[in-house]
Amino acid sequence: MNSKIWYDGELVEWSAAHAHVMTHTLHYGSGAFEGIRFYNTTHGRAVFRLVDHIKRFFYSMSVLRMECKWSDEKLLDAVGQVVRSFPAKEGYVRPIAFYGEGMGLVPKSQPHIVIGAWEWGAYLGKECVAVQVAKKTRISPNITDPRAKLTGNYLNSILACFSIDRERFDEAILLDHRGYVAEGPGENICAVKDGTLLVPTSDSILPGITRATIMTLAKEEGINVVEKPMRLEELMACDEVFFCGTAVEVCAIGKIGGAVIGDGKMGELTALLKKRYLDEVRGQGKHEEWLYVVD
Ligand code: PMP
Repeated sequence: MNSKIWYDGELVEWSAAHAHVMTHTLHYGSGAFEGIRFYNTTHGRAVFRLVDHIKRFFYSMSVLRMECKWSDEKLLDAVGQVVRSFPAKEGYVRPIAFYGEGMGLVPKSQPHIVIGAWEWGAYLGKECVAVQVAKKTRISPNITDPRAKLTGNYLNSILACFSIDRERFDEAILLDHRGYVAEGPGENICAVKDGTLLVPTSDSILPGITRATIMTLAKEEGINVVEKPMRLEELMACDEVFFCGTAVEVCAIGKIGGAVIGDGKMGELTALLKKRYLDEVRGQGKHEEWLYVVD
C-alpha cells in the first residue's frame, strides 16, 4: 500500500512518479530530505512535529542553495494531501528536494520537490539492541553540513552500517572527528547516569527533533538534563543508553561492543521516556501543538 505522490504541486499516482536517470541528485548526492511519521491519534490521523520537520527541510535545502517555489504553509498542506491519499492509519512521510537533469557539479536548475508516504513499522524491530562502534567516523562540519538532512550525508551512514558485524550487532554508532560520541546512522543517542539524562553534544550530529522532544519530556518529568560532549568510555559506563529518532522512536541499547549497559535490558527512565513519547505522538500527552491533524 502506497500513497499518492505530491510532485511539484500535483498529486500523481505512486507508479507514475519518475525522475530521469541523468538527474543531478542521483549522480552527486545533492538532495535534501525529511523523515516524518504520522500516527493514529485521539484527534484523528496527525503528523508529529511537522512544522519542525518542514523548518529543517528548508534549512537543508538552503545548504544546497535550493530555492523552493512553495512556502512552508504550502508544504504543510502538501503533506496533509499525501497522508489523506493514503488509507493506512500510521506511516512514514518522505519529502525530498532534488536537482533534475543537468550534469556538472554546480546545479543549474531549480529543484523538484516530491512527497510520498508508506507504512513503516518499528525501524530496528526490537525493544533493545546491541550496537558496535563503526569503523567510519561521522562527517564533520568541515566535510559537509551534518546539521542538514542531505542525501549525500547518508553515504557516511551506509558505510558505517556496512562496517559492523551484523551477525552480532543490530546497529552502528559513530564517533565524531574528535573522538566524541556522535550518533547512530539514522538516530541520535541519549544516556542516563545516576538519574540524570545525558545528551551527547557534537558539532557533527543531526540535531534530531525526537532528541529535542525527549529533552522536553524529561524536564517535564523533573529529570535533570545535561547536554555535553561524551567520550565512548563515559557512555559505556552509563546506567542506560538509548537511541531516539523519528524512525526508531525510542529504542534501548543493551550492549555496546562487548560491554553490557546496566542489566542489558531497557532501563527504567528509558521506559518512562518511551511511554511519554508514544503518548505524545498518539495525542495522549500534553502537547497538542506538536500534532498536525490531517483528518
Ligand atoms: N541522526 C540522523 C543521522 C538521522 O538520520 C536521524 C533521522 N532523521 C536522526 C539523527 C534523528 O532525527 P529526528 O529525530 O529528527 O528524526
